[in-house]
Amino acid sequence: MRIVMKFGGSSLASAIHIRRAAELIARQRAEGDQVAVVVSAQGDTTDALIEKAREINPKPCGRERDMLLCCGEQMSMALMAMQLEALGCPAVSFCGWQAGIRTESRHGDARILKVEPQRVKQVLEQGRVAVVAGFQGIDGEGELTTLGRGGSDTTAVALAAALQADLCRIYTDVQGVYSADPRVVEQARVHREISYDEMLEMASLGAKVLHSRAVELAREHGVRVEVRSTFTPQTGGTALGSECGHGQAVRGIACDDRVDMVTVMGLGDGPETCRLFNCLADSGISIDVIIRSPGDRPERGVVSFSVGAADREKVAAVLKSSQRELNFSGFLVQTDMAKVSVVGAGMSDGCGVAAGMLRALQEGEIRPQYITTGELRISVILPKAQAQQAVRLIHAAFFEN
Ligand code: ASP
Ligand code: MG
Repeated sequence: MRIVMKFGGSSLASAIHIRRAAELIARQRAEGDQVAVVVSAQGDTTDALIEKAREINPKPCGRERDMLLCCGEQMSMALMAMQLEALGCPAVSFCGWQAGIRTESRHGDARILKVEPQRVKQVLEQGRVAVVAGFQGIDGEGELTTLGRGGSDTTAVALAAALQADLCRIYTDVQGVYSADPRVVEQARVHREISYDEMLEMASLGAKVLHSRAVELAREHGVRVEVRSTFTPQTGGTALGSECGHGQAVRGIACDDRVDMVTVMGLGDGPETCRLFNCLADSGISIDVIIRSPGDRPERGVVSFSVGAADREKVAAVLKSSQRELNFSGFLVQTDMAKVSVVGAGMSDGCGVAAGMLRALQEGEIRPQYITTGELRISVILPKAQAQQAVRLIHAAFFEN
């Protein structure tokens, strides 16, 4: 079979880690499989590079930032290829651009447009291992781009799709996809299977185990994805598939603790509201929970919405520059908020999930400020300081009886 094996930063943190991962790769090849490998930067290298940049220029331009960040994965790929060679396993490393990872021209958060995998394919057909740097690509102008934090997963799935691989296996520091972050909830359970839809919802609502674009791509191309532990690879892990409905309404609890809640006061309910969201979208700001409530004058209301904390400055800039045109009276930003969500495909036809969630929060005297529901999820917004306790209470209510 043809397999893509992806290793995250914690699985490559030191020379010993790289060796252990390389042994898994060599063993897979020895079974007669064609093996492409995607690597992340070692340990917290990416954070360290960001910090190095900040010491020199707090606001570096996107191009130079990407030039720097690409170095992390480039180190990993070369070290991995050398380690494989040392084990007697022939291997060739490739930067994103060499592996044909073509992206849009958006520094820091580029989407993959297509993969031209000829060189990688050739190496696989020669019986060698291709080691590809994750998280990076090249745009139409020949500039290096990066795919957003956690983006190596997306490289792996996109490559698997382009190579028509039989399997894309994501090796990580936990056992698979859990019912909640196992670092927060000791009793969290590993799922043996989860549907693409549920996983997508979990990933985009803050579960860090997989990059949400990786899940999107996997669903679109029907890539078989498996998440398992590098440290105990013999235990099964979690398989992603199209099946859902396990007789369980709630499948997971996700928490995003980098959320701001923005409230715009005195905003007209006609074209003004529409214009405001257009301006935010044009600036590439993604919005989640939106709540509109009547103000003191019927045609002018209060609109609240959640945004990622990373977009704080962009949001403030949009609001300041549009206040006069849209004629709203003011805005307010609550920082240090979190969004806690319960996710499950069986939720749409079950009832009582919201009630169960609110009851659990009430027991801990946690009062969410905003509540919103979707087909596969219910989310509450609350202060970040209460987020972990909220996750534990909700997990106990749905999974620990
Ligand atoms: N090294 C990048 C990051 O830390 C990409 C990845 O690990 O997936 O975000
Ligand atoms: Mg990751």
